[in-house]
Amino acid sequence: MSEIPPAPSDSQLICAKCQQPLVLGKVTASYLGNDFPVDLLRCPGCGFTYVPEALALGKMLDVERALEDK
Ligand SMILES: [Zn+2]
Repeated sequence: MSEIPPAPSDSQLICAKCQQPLVLGKVTASYLGNDFPVDLLRCPGCGFTYVPEALALGKMLDVERALEDK
């Protein structure tokens, strides 16, 4: 049994695969056929992009709504 590492803070997430700290970077998200830039935490090692649940479930819906308002 290995020790459980301390819980990372919101600003310091570690890639489970590479054990490297994720860095904030611009990525293009695609939702319902619309592409838009967002700042997300990305692993410099494997390119894994961390999508917070709040963004996946909440913000994306706000974006959709905003686009429909136009
Ligand atoms: Zn990684």
